[in-house]
Amino acid sequence: MLDDINAAATLQALDAAYHFHPFTDHKDLHARGVKVITSAEGVFLHDDKGNKILDGMAGLWCVAAGYGRQELVEAAATQMAKLPYYNTFFKTTNEPAVRLAQRLAQITPEGLNHAFFACSGSEAVDSALRTARVYWQTKGKPNKKIIIGREYGYHGSTTLGASAGGMADMHRQAGDMPNFAHVLPPYWYGKGGQMSPEEFGIYAAREVEKKIHELGAENVAAFIGEPIQGAGGVLIPPETYWPEINRICKENDILLIADEVICGFGRTGKMFGSDYFGIKPDMMTMAKGITSGYVPLSAVMLHDRVAEVMINDAGEYYHGFTYSGHPVSCAVALKNLELIENEGLVAAAEAKGHILRAKLAEAVGDSPLVGEIRGVGLIGAIELTADKRTRKGFAKKGRTGTICRDLFIENGLIMRAVGDTMVFAPPLTITESEIDTMVALAKKSIDQTYENVKSEVAS
Ligand SMILES: *Cc1c(COP(=O)(O)O)cnc(C)c1O
Repeated sequence: MLDDINAAATLQALDAAYHFHPFTDHKDLHARGVKVITSAEGVFLHDDKGNKILDGMAGLWCVAAGYGRQELVEAAATQMAKLPYYNTFFKTTNEPAVRLAQRLAQITPEGLNHAFFACSGSEAVDSALRTARVYWQTKGKPNKKIIIGREYGYHGSTTLGASAGGMADMHRQAGDMPNFAHVLPPYWYGKGGQMSPEEFGIYAAREVEKKIHELGAENVAAFIGEPIQGAGGVLIPPETYWPEINRICKENDILLIADEVICGFGRTGKMFGSDYFGIKPDMMTMAKGITSGYVPLSAVMLHDRVAEVMINDAGEYYHGFTYSGHPVSCAVALKNLELIENEGLVAAAEAKGHILRAKLAEAVGDSPLVGEIRGVGLIGAIELTADKRTRKGFAKKGRTGTICRDLFIENGLIMRAVGDTMVFAPPLTITESEIDTMVALAKKSIDQTYENVKSEVAS
């Protein structure tokens, strides 16, 4: 059978024969055929059929500086020619890793001054969770092991990351590891009931406190949360939430880990989501936008109070990756941070986010299908609803979102569906005229979706 396919040799057929994809139902993929992306420039992708698609997701939330940036290509090539690789285990280091660690210390909130490097967000999360446990062991509290996360949280797909996250399907397949617990997410639209967003923010934060008391603070190592839950549907906490979480973690002697893999590097219109919400993390995980996705890289930033214990008292840290501090990845990250700074992309994210949401509200805000348009900077969501007044979901959860997502793609715009919520996070370089294109395509697709599911929507 594989011989026949090799003879036909379309990339689609070869992909179906040989390529096992992440987060994919392969039977469904093979029935529809895979899309072959051939090149990209700015905010646009090109496929092998000659289609031009506006990437409203910046890849997977990562291509902050846009596609086709020669500066990043050159940074990688120059570093590859000079020193393509050496490890950082053997009492050795390299210049890009050192300079990047220093730069990250400068741009992250006060006190986060030590960078541990890895290659993916999942590895950063895994490293942060292990660090939390080693920290408590070193402090003579080995029972402090439990990690508290949230439902719909996403912290990557290593076994620890999947366990910290709150995705039920992943727990079912990955097996969920012991010493993890999950609490209500600060998802006002879906879970807030009759409470005001401000009341609900406090309520959701106190669920963390309740869980800590139930488990015993002497058994809890850390709370981990994304400033805004991205993969869970762009769940933006009410402004009362994070200050209350700061208080709860501090009072109960629990480490606070901000997973900034999506929110970091300008996505929220501030450098980090922690800046936007006033989060006071002990550790911060970052990846995606750190290199605009051009090469893999992630980091965990340790606060001085954690680093001092790890450096002075923990002995050898039995953890690390072959590619920790990879010189090429770090060189690209440095250049990427320079682009973000020189082009004012953080402020641009804030300004363009306002424009994008205002234009979306004008275009589709009155549609009976649109329950809420929310966002911070250039991360946002359009929540589709069966009933605008009661914020009721659809009887068959996810069907409308899938229809809408497919129409978006057909019309030349990528947004992702999380259940029945359409999420977006375009490159921070998106221009106003590209925003107009994005809004026009979104309106067309949402209007078509409405025609499709009209009978299920309260008018
Ligand atoms: C994507 C993501 C991760 C995992 O990153 P990978 O590079 O895919 O391993 C972890 N945390 C958050 C918040 C993410 O969005």
